[in-house]
Amino acid sequence: MRLKLEITGLVQGVGFRPFIYALAKELDLTGYVRNNRTGVRVEVEGGKEVLDTFLLRIEQDKPEISKIYSLQHSFLEEQGFETFVIRESIGQGAGRTLILPDIALCDKCASDISDPENRRFQYPFTNCTDCGPRFTIIEKTPYDRQNTSMKEFALCNDCQKEYDTPGNRRFHAQPNACQECGPHVSLHEINGTLICTGEEAIEKTVSQIQQGSVVAVKGMGGYHLLCDATKEETVAALRARKSREEKPLAVMFPDLNSARNETSINALEERALISVEKPIVIVQKSGSSILAEAVSPGNNTVGVFLPYTPLHHILLDKLKAPVVATSANITDDPIASDEQDAFTRLAAIADFILAHNREIVRRCDDSVVRIAAGRQMPVRRSRGFAPVPISLPFRLRKPVLALGPYMSSTITVALDDKAFLSQHIGDLDSPLALEFYEDTINDLLGLLDVTPEVVIADLHPGYYSTKFGEKKYGDVLLKVQHHFAHILSCMAENGLPEDAEVIGFAFDGTGYGLDKTIWGSEVLIASYRGFKRALHLRPYRLPGGEVAVKEPCRTALSLLYDTFGDKAKNIDFTSFSENEKLLLLEIMKKNINCPLTTSMGRLFDAVSSLTGLNHKISYHAQAAIALEQAAARSDDKGSYPFVISNKMIYQLPIIDRIANERENNVPPEVIARRFHNTISNMVVEAAEIIREETDISYVALSGGVFQNVILLEDTFRKLTERNFRPLIHQLVPPNDGGISLGQAVFSHFAQV
Ligand code: ZN
Ligand code: ZN
Ligand code: FE
Repeated sequence: MRLKLEITGLVQGVGFRPFIYALAKELDLTGYVRNNRTGVRVEVEGGKEVLDTFLLRIEQDKPEISKIYSLQHSFLEEQGFETFVIRESIGQGAGRTLILPDIALCDKCASDISDPENRRFQYPFTNCTDCGPRFTIIEKTPYDRQNTSMKEFALCNDCQKEYDTPGNRRFHAQPNACQECGPHVSLHEINGTLICTGEEAIEKTVSQIQQGSVVAVKGMGGYHLLCDATKEETVAALRARKSREEKPLAVMFPDLNSARNETSINALEERALISVEKPIVIVQKSGSSILAEAVSPGNNTVGVFLPYTPLHHILLDKLKAPVVATSANITDDPIASDEQDAFTRLAAIADFILAHNREIVRRCDDSVVRIAAGRQMPVRRSRGFAPVPISLPFRLRKPVLALGPYMSSTITVALDDKAFLSQHIGDLDSPLALEFYEDTINDLLGLLDVTPEVVIADLHPGYYSTKFGEKKYGDVLLKVQHHFAHILSCMAENGLPEDAEVIGFAFDGTGYGLDKTIWGSEVLIASYRGFKRALHLRPYRLPGGEVAVKEPCRTALSLLYDTFGDKAKNIDFTSFSENEKLLLLEIMKKNINCPLTTSMGRLFDAVSSLTGLNHKISYHAQAAIALEQAAARSDDKGSYPFVISNKMIYQLPIIDRIANERENNVPPEVIARRFHNTISNMVVEAAEIIREETDISYVALSGGVFQNVILLEDTFRKLTERNFRPLIHQLVPPNDGGISLGQAVFSHFAQV
């Protein structure tokens, strides 16, 4: 089957177009390459494997004379190009200057800092026009040194000469710096007392990490906590101090080879690791890993990334070992980004602080991606990607501000045919997070110089984002239903035209429904203009409301009660005491604090508990992840029955069978696999029913549940086999991090 690979790049220099042309010709691909105002756009068509090769070869063979600041790509439906051509450039000259993302250290700067003869040997703030910080140092436009946090540092003669010489790699490199004139690092006790600076500080940091200390290291968009990833006690101590019991920690490896040794990485994962965005890539651990089990306990995956600043390069080069490199914060607070913050908030977590005197103007967490179905799926779109816009398939009439949801929030500012998603903000539930949220709104509007004429929020009356919108933008505020926004984000990033219709599957943990209950397994017949709720799971109770989110065993009991009535109390699947069970059954019967939901996420939680995998969680989606990991250990082809009738998907037969198989000691991984098979069957069957009625063949898969790679890949494959046209996320996350894009798009069709 032929596909189209669409690439939008922020690229400068004359060498890129001819390079793409030659490569496309060599691989016998059709399509075009074209320069536009902001960079380059490539669309090529061919078989998936050749397109993969094309993508990998761009990374491996890219011409030295052109500078790549960002390359977003997605695999889409074939369009039918017959030849490959270089198209006329459009919109040269005029147009908005884009603010670049932070760019990982380039090869040339990497060799500067490792060459003892070079004047930048071991200098941790080395950069050039090809690399270095941008988004996190710019205070206002235009992008000039005076408008960045580098304004504090006067260029020395040598640096000034580079800056002034056309043809020099550092000609007009705004953050240009050297040992003489630029920022420097300093090592501090946790109370702020200065220990030492410069090279000595780096040496001491390295030896402290080797001895098992946790050091907070100021990076590009915030502080990381660094510690030896091979030492069990050290990683366990970090977890205890960060109050992060089990959620996996990211690991930075010195180089690609050392990462390969500890994990099994495929070609697309490797490409992602070395791409200019340098995200954290979630990969499989290898059997005999030297990584401490505490890095991602009970998990067969681990988040891996490579050094992207000169400081990380220097540290990892000396350590020659993988380090845990996790955002410096306590649980869900925003990442610490200045010294005051670090010294107060990190006192109980870190042993030392490696600071520096270049101010971080705005926080930006590391991005996270995962390869699924041969596509790159963003899990968190932040450093390296923000604030690169997503191209919309149509032009907006009015500039819009989309306020995002509550969990894993981002906001979006969109105008013309561009949507600018903010960096990752996170859950809006601590005072620090709310402050960061409001700062980010003002900041992005300011940077883009936009006054929004429409503002759009989630329907949920309790979300901070909604309340903020009502208070601040009441007269121009629109609201959009959560799951519809998920589907809209998927439609928009897949470039669907204005009149398109899709069958949308929005599967997630929670979202406020039109009927004021908690939705989460929504099958929508949708266009950009509106939606019809076609199908959803049979509503069930969450005993204790929010508590049930933390305790999947409660949801399990609720579904058992729906299935078996009072006999549910005889089913032994968890450590509930007899009294607890009776109490929960009692509150369900009397309907006390038992909100109804159609959540698919909670169904995964419940099945995780029913199979004995996870009864209580310590981080978001933990039980569902445990279920996915168990399913990955089985290739059973079985599945469970369900019934679709009368706008409802009845899940009780599934619960019935699982309870039965548990009693007959069917292994958890087999049940987990069969459950996954069941849900992908459910999607296909529901899609068939709707296609029958409507003739729609586009199927959009969105919502956090589709971060589940087994579910996503199976569903995608089965839909393709049945001649559907499945749409999945490749530019924004399927989780709530992508919601603000969907909101922004909706504003175009539903004006105030
Ligand atoms: Zn460079
Ligand atoms: Zn200098
Ligand atoms: Fe959601």
